[in-house]
Amino acid sequence: MEQGPIEFTLNGVTMYAKDGQSVVEAARENGTYIPTLCDYKSLPPAGTCRICTVRAGGRIVSGCTTPVSHGMVVESESPELVDLRKGLIEMLFVEGNHMCPSCEKSGDCELQALAYRYRIEVPRFPFSFTNRAIDASLPHLVLEHNRCIQCLRCVRGVKSRGGHDIFGFKNRGRDIRITVDTTDPDALSEETARKAMAICPVGALLTKGLHYLTPIGERHYDETPIGTDVEKGGDGS
Ligand code: SF4
Repeated sequence: MEQGPIEFTLNGVTMYAKDGQSVVEAARENGTYIPTLCDYKSLPPAGTCRICTVRAGGRIVSGCTTPVSHGMVVESESPELVDLRKGLIEMLFVEGNHMCPSCEKSGDCELQALAYRYRIEVPRFPFSFTNRAIDASLPHLVLEHNRCIQCLRCVRGVKSRGGHDIFGFKNRGRDIRITVDTTDPDALSEETARKAMAICPVGALLTKGLHYLTPIGERHYDETPIGTDVEKGGDGS
């Protein structure tokens, strides 16, 4: 028997979801943006960044990994949740070195765009002034470890022609580093490097070559602040 749409409420508004849809997906389809950083288009959710934290059925959960259920009451924009989300964004800024004015991803960076959305000026936490060595040894890609937010989008979304992982991680905690499998010399082609840069929400993966072709001020989030496409009925892509 085919099931009908699942009715739930988000921030007091009645919405409908398909069976198996996550809170983030269902909200997006109903024109409400719930911010995320690790969530990306068709990739399976990872729930690593917790930016999409919501209160669902009375519990604090990550919206990208929580399926909607009948009658579920979800809140995503209460003062408590907004403050929590801002705190997570601020922590990402102080943990890395995100020098926006000198970053090629400025204007296309989701972390920067979220900071603008939440009007973050000075983080409430002290900067850790990390100084991780930048790896420019690959032919087509620079790894800027100081900006990696460990969202796993590159690990989940960039594969070799044979479907194998190209990106991975080594170490733990503050020493965690993104790694690239260099055993297959064809794995990280110029095209794959471009895909990796596009999939990375920040400026941690940068292709080598010509940059700044689109001036800062005319880039994606300069023109369309993050989330506003969804709020106007777009799909956020
Ligand atoms: S390199 Fe970019 S895409 Fe990969 S984990 Fe770090 S921030 Fe995410």
